[in-house]
This record gives sequence, structure tokens and C-alpha cells, in this order.
Amino acid sequence: ALTAGIVGLPNVGKSTLFNAITQAGAEAANYPFATIDPNVGIVEVPDERLNKLTELVKPKKTVPTAFEFTDIAGIVKGASKGEGLGNQFLSHIRQVDAICQVVRCFEDENITHVSGKVDPIDDIEIINLELILADLESVNKRFQRVEKLARQKDKEALAEYEILNKVKEGLENDQPVRALEFTEEQEKIVKGLHLLTSKPTLYVANVSEEEVADSDSNENVQRVKEYAANENAEVIVVCARIEEEIAELEPEEKEEFLEDLGISESGLDQLIKASYNLLGLATYFTAGEQEVRAWTFRQGIKAPQAAGIIHTDFERGFIRAETVSYDALVDAGNMATARERGQVRLEGKEYIVQDGDVIHFRFNV
Ligand code: GDP
Repeated sequence: ALTAGIVGLPNVGKSTLFNAITQAGAEAANYPFATIDPNVGIVEVPDERLNKLTELVKPKKTVPTAFEFTDIAGIVKGASKGEGLGNQFLSHIRQVDAICQVVRCFEDENITHVSGKVDPIDDIEIINLELILADLESVNKRFQRVEKLARQKDKEALAEYEILNKVKEGLENDQPVRALEFTEEQEKIVKGLHLLTSKPTLYVANVSEEEVADSDSNENVQRVKEYAANENAEVIVVCARIEEEIAELEPEEKEEFLEDLGISESGLDQLIKASYNLLGLATYFTAGEQEVRAWTFRQGIKAPQAAGIIHTDFERGFIRAETVSYDALVDAGNMATARERGQVRLEGKEYIVQDGDVIHFRFNV
């Protein structure tokens, strides 16, 4: 399963946020892929559509889809110089598919900041610099392997050589690879380099309890937003301490609590949704009387592969995907009416599954 790694300097609120994640935790029984790694937290993906489908179909059981966060502790200045812990940190980042960088935007005299003052841009740059330095090292190593072949006019090597030059120039100017522009062909090669700064990234601005309802008045948050806009990254505002409290509440209590605070959606729920999008994930549904269920797929896959997410037999014996879009089904009110209206399509092997599709797979056993 794809996973988003949570990183940040010490004392910015990572553990607090990760606690909230594990406490909100999904019921492991529903998710066979669930690992028992203490650094991995599994959350259910909040999705209004699942509630609506449950109302329509009235199944015996409703199962949301789930998503993994990985807690990556231990970034320190100098990580890229390969001091023990630093090295470990970088290898953990290498294994995640997206990065959620927590930055401290709350002031609190009782909680020391590693640099002595709260300055989120400084914090972001400390971490980004370590990742950039690590990437430069990877790029230089790669150069050594490609250079000779490029001199012999090897076509693939030449293409990579050109990209390496561009990447290196960017990195030397403090630009993460994700902020550079490439053609589609080049993107494939860039992906193969597995660079840390090419991973999709979002920033999590951790604000105080007092500011969470009106975070725009927090100057630090504004600065993080400006910084992120420059590299097309998203910013999610949370108060990690409050999320920790919310995670312990029952659903109805949670709604009341949020209302009292004056926020419409918890920061954690926003973070889950944003991370899910960042990873290029989307959701389709199955809706039967026994069970209404949400399933995660990678955008762009075809119907048989999507069937394989439920069971490998579904993929092997795939015949057709009876498909109706969520909107059409809700508009029709039930499956029979949607069918009368001709909105239930019989899709074949080449169909590219869309977010919100409600699917019934037909297959040979
Ligand atoms: P980590 O080192 O990044 O994992 O940081 P922790 O989660 O351990 O948090 C460091 C300290 O900051 C702890 O004392 C937390 O209670 C406190 N803290 C975390 N989030 C918030 C917050 O949103 N508001 C306030 N006031 N304190 C927080």
C-alpha cells in the first residue's frame, strides 16, 4: 500500500499528530494489509459519499477504505552528512510515497524550539536542505555511471545526462526536484532516479488551540502558505493537541466538538484527504445488501486491475464491470431506476475506472 511519511524537526508536534492518527485508528480486522509496525498508523478515509450510499442501500455493514501514515522520527541538521541517525532518517524517507512535513506555527514558552525561536520557514528550509544535499549526492553518483555512456553517444544515457544536469542545477539553486518542469518522457526518467525531493509534499501547519478556528490571523501560517504556493504544494492547518482529543471521541461527539470550536472539518480529516489526493489515489464503491464498501485505487488503472483489489480471482476471471457513477445513482435514488434510465453501463477490460464509480464486477470462477 502507498504511504505518506510524517516528518518534521523535533518538538513541532509530530508525535502528537501521530498519536491522533493511531487513536483514530481503523479497525485492523477490515484491512488485511495492515502492518503491525508501530511507526505505521492506519486511518479510515472520511468520505461523505459512503454515508449517502449506506442510506440508499441500507446494507448490513459499511466499510470505509483505509490509508497509511508512517511516522519518520529523527531529522537533524546534518542528516545528509551520513551521521548514523541521519542516514536512517533518509532511508526511511526513501521508502514513503509522499511527504507530510509538520511545521511549528504555535508559540509556547514552555516548549523549546531547536533553533531557539519559532520560524516555520527556517524549519522547512533546514529539512529541505538536508533532502537536497542527499539528492545531490545521488545525482553525482548517477553522473559517474552515465557520463561514459553518454560520451559514447548512447541514446538513453544522453537523455538521462541532460536530465541530471537540469536536476543538479535546480538542486544547487535550492530547488526541490518536484518544483522543476519536465516533459512526460523525462518525468519517467526522473521517477527512476528515486530522488527525495521529487516526492509529492504537503505542509502541515501546527497552530495553537486558540488559533485553530481563525488560522489566517497567524502570521506564521501565512508565511508557510506563501512558501508552499511557490512550489505548488498544499498547506493543511491543524492543532495537533486538539486532534489528539478529537481522536478519542465518538462520531456524534466529534461533530459537536468541532462545531463548538468553529471548524467544519477536523484537521486530521483534511490531512487524510489531501494526502490521499497527493498520492494519486481515488475511491470506487461496491454496494450490495450485505456490504457497502469503499475501495482505494491508483488513478488511471483499468477495470480488471480494480477488480483485483477486491480479490485476485475477480481480476483473473474478469468479464464485465457493471458501473454507475455515484452522482447518477444518488440522483436516481436506487439501482433499478438508474438501470431504467440507462445509466448503468457494462464496461469491459479497457475501461479506466473513475473516482466515485459504483461497480458490480462480473467474473468467471
Ligand atoms: P515532536 O518532537 O515533533 O514529535 O513533538 P511532540 O508531538 O512531542 O510535541 C512537542 C511538544 O509540543 C509537546 O509538549 C506537545 O504537547 C506540544 N504540542 C504539540 N502540538 C501542540 C499544539 O498544537 N499546541 C500546543 N500548545 N502544544 C503542542
